[in-house]
Amino acid sequence: MESGGTLKFHFLVVKSFLVGAKAVEISVPVSSPFCLRLCLLRSTAGNTDSSETHTTPTSKAQVNKTSDGKYISPFHDIPLIAETEQANDVPAKKSKKSESEVLYNMVVEVPRWSNAKMEIAIKEPLNPIKQDEKKGKLRYVANIFPHKGYIWNYGALPQTWEDPGQKDKETNCCGDNDPIDVCDIGTQVCSTGQVIQVKVLGILAMIDEGEMDWKVIAINAEDPDAKNLNSIEDVRKNRPGHLEATVEWFRKYKVPDGKPENKFGFNGEFKDKDFAVEIIKSTHEHWRALVQKQKNTGGIDCKNTLCCDSPFRCTTDEAREVVQSVRTSLALVSHYW
Ligand SMILES: [Mg+2]
Repeated sequence: MESGGTLKFHFLVVKSFLVGAKAVEISVPVSSPFCLRLCLLRSTAGNTDSSETHTTPTSKAQVNKTSDGKYISPFHDIPLIAETEQANDVPAKKSKKSESEVLYNMVVEVPRWSNAKMEIAIKEPLNPIKQDEKKGKLRYVANIFPHKGYIWNYGALPQTWEDPGQKDKETNCCGDNDPIDVCDIGTQVCSTGQVIQVKVLGILAMIDEGEMDWKVIAINAEDPDAKNLNSIEDVRKNRPGHLEATVEWFRKYKVPDGKPENKFGFNGEFKDKDFAVEIIKSTHEHWRALVQKQKNTGGIDCKNTLCCDSPFRCTTDEAREVVQSVRTSLALVSHYW
């Protein structure tokens, strides 16, 4: 796989192209070569992030673009491992960074304290980040007392896949067919589509209706506290109550939607970062088999622009055409509303 190149800190302008809605323009600082573009497109009044029911869909999708204007898939084209300029400067004679010191790219789907269930749309070309829908209604998580929305920045590690055909040895459950989930416990409130570099600290084995749904616990490497947090035990000592709140949140967050409480492997105990790194590595291998077409894709769209050993790789021109055709069809849909 090709790497994403050197990481630079820069500001990116995000513009909306919402049809029938007020256009917004915001600047988002990101520490990566990837930016997002709020690209689309079906919009009406009532776009709030509360957990109330919305009968009128208000939908938007974000398509990721590189800083030089190329469309990419946030699932397949962003490298799992973040290459820092610092790392590139390390002289060859110095020993390689140990696995536990490696930083990972995280694609932020849901900003902390918000409720809209934004996620990488794995079955759509170039995998835009969209709000999940169920039975035609947009999904929001309820507020789990005493919290508001998600209690961390929540997202995914790119180039990972929890394979539904693989049974976990410990829990006997198969993967949930999604990239592996991450909770960033840093204090910065991130934006949907932002790509941040995180330090992995541990992992929780959530089981969602019989499916394996690992939750990586990590901290934004830019967080002032990141240097003090190097293990799950450090989180326990320095952030009292944080881990307990995390388990309780995941246990209960679907109950207001009429679902049972989620269960956990290992009695709901967090595993340490070495364990987490092994799980991440195995989900990365499963993803690699997926984009190399060694597995049945099961509806997952593997179109990518950077994975050189993938039969699903397309050119940047083709990627632009994909985004333009989606824009055109959605614009036509909104015209008829
Ligand atoms: Mg998951």
